[in-house]
Amino acid sequence: MKHLYCSLFGHNYEVTKNVTYHVKEYTCTHCREEVTTSGNGQLTLLTPKYKEINSVLERIHLKRLKRKQLIFDR
Ligand SMILES: [Zn+2]
Repeated sequence: MKHLYCSLFGHNYEVTKNVTYHVKEYTCTHCREEVTTSGNGQLTLLTPKYKEINSVLERIHLKRLKRKQLIFDR
C-alpha cells in the first residue's frame, strides 16, 4: 500500500548507499520505497536488475579507488 504522506507530498528519500560518485541508492523514510540513479541521472525504482548493475558498478568503483590509493602510497 502506498503511504498517504508520499502521495500527498512526494517521497522523502535518504541516501542508503553510495555506489559511485554519481550513482546512489535511496530509501523513502516514509514508505521504504527504494530508488536509484539510472543512466540518464533520473531516479528510478530499485529493481533486482538495477541492484545487480549497482553491485557491479560498486565493485568497479572500489577497485578504481584502491588503485588510486596505491598510486598515492608510492
Ligand atoms: Zn515514500
